Amino acid sequence: MKPQSPDHLPPADAASRKAISPVICYPVETLPKPDLAGYRAAREGWQKVAEVLVPARDARCFDVPAGHFFRITSVEGPQVGDLNLWNAANLAERFYSGKTRALHGTHLSSGDRMWTSHPYLRPMATITDDTLDWYGFDAFGGAVHDVIGTRCDPYTHNLLSHGGQYHHCCHSNLTRALADARGLPLDQAEGHVHDVLNVFMCTGFTRDTGQYFMKASPVRPGDYLEFFAEIDLLGALSACPGGDCSSEHSSDTAACHPLLVEVFRPAVPPTGWVSPPVNGYDGSHGR
Ligand SMILES: [Zn+2]
Repeated sequence: MKPQSPDHLPPADAASRKAISPVICYPVETLPKPDLAGYRAAREGWQKVAEVLVPARDARCFDVPAGHFFRITSVEGPQVGDLNLWNAANLAERFYSGKTRALHGTHLSSGDRMWTSHPYLRPMATITDDTLDWYGFDAFGGAVHDVIGTRCDPYTHNLLSHGGQYHHCCHSNLTRALADARGLPLDQAEGHVHDVLNVFMCTGFTRDTGQYFMKASPVRPGDYLEFFAEIDLLGALSACPGGDCSSEHSSDTAACHPLLVEVFRPAVPPTGWVSPPVNGYDGSHGR
């Protein structure tokens, strides 16, 4: 955290150094732009082929073949979800939250993509609809669907609570779900769990201290976030023990609700769509 009273005096030219305008780190104009209208047109006549109800304070896995859509929908009451995605055929290729944030910003919405880890770095899913896109940024700098948080986990809880043991943090929920889906021992499954897309969570950074904050999610039953699978996906979704994340997580005190995952097969794939190849860098790293 930046000190409120720094140890060092500002130099004579401090004001002019601070007045320099920022430049965007990764201008994304050179990335292939997803054809959102084309994706949405492919929803015409789609068929639901699977659904999974994720219980409150627990997680479930689901499969989405390339070229299919999936939706995460709020049911029963406001609830935040922590999403992990993997290449279904290779768990080493997984969602890369940090690079997705660097490319698309702190919070995702329609037209943004979820990118995979190195050395693959390619789009794994494209967000095709977001009923909360009206929210934008509020007066506190908060917005929904962030890629800045990590996932609630029992290790951080143990540190902050001086020894607390809580077993239904999203990290543990995702670990159990992946272990069950792939027949892995818990310790192996845990190594594949990664930083999430915080579905429906409303978050930001405080202006004065730069601290990560959360506030009650604006999500209501019927709201959804919809994705198109660019490659064969294995997903895992945890219905966070924080519920709508208005007060705390890592406990059983918040009101929690299930989340619905539905998978849809389009009658015809989006016009011109092809599953993206892995990244074109040759991997020689200068040797
Ligand atoms: Zn959580």
